[in-house]
Amino acid sequence: MDELTEEIVQGVRAEVEGILQVVTQWAQQGAPGGLEPIEQKIREAFGSVRQRMVRAAIEQVGRGYEGPWQKCQRCGKLGKYVGDRTHTVWTVLGPIRGVGRAYYHGCGCGGGWMPQDQKLGLDAAGHSLVFRQVVSLAGCLGPYEKASETLWEMGRIFTSHTAVEHVTEQEGAQAERWLKGREQKGVLVYYFREPSRRAVNFRRREQATA
Ligand SMILES: [Zn+2]
Repeated sequence: MDELTEEIVQGVRAEVEGILQVVTQWAQQGAPGGLEPIEQKIREAFGSVRQRMVRAAIEQVGRGYEGPWQKCQRCGKLGKYVGDRTHTVWTVLGPIRGVGRAYYHGCGCGGGWMPQDQKLGLDAAGHSLVFRQVVSLAGCLGPYEKASETLWEMGRIFTSHTAVEHVTEQEGAQAERWLKGREQKGVLVYYFREPSRRAVNFRRREQATA
């Protein structure tokens, strides 16, 4: 076993042993609080281990340094490596903080880019695709302020009101463009299977009641 695997396996073992101890005590004391404390305890288990595994995955991809110059995907001109930029990667398994990645800049078309973000499929705010899907799904179901609480309550997914609003609006706008394209082609649009489709539904409902 390599060092990382060893670390992760030890983390899982420590959590399992900790939980089993709590369970034994709880049962010996006559199950105070019913199943609830145990259910909560197990539900919240492995949070740090799962985050560690995501971090390990990102670390294995690397910080995205690909030499002093790299071609811009928009304009095709070269941009220069100007240093590393640190950010938080937002996933449904928790925020992964302090992730460093190489930053390229100066191709001439404005802005810069980070190859690591492109590889991981992150948006400009560091949200992963799964995070965007889940968060926008919650954002479609009601007020944005409620959504972040609901996400935490139901799945221990950590986010903020502003992230919910931002992601849902973006997914909604994207879905609207998609829908317009379909409608222009004469395709009847009547089903909403993906979260972004539901985002549109939500926006339409909101506009209808405004
Ligand atoms: Zn460019």
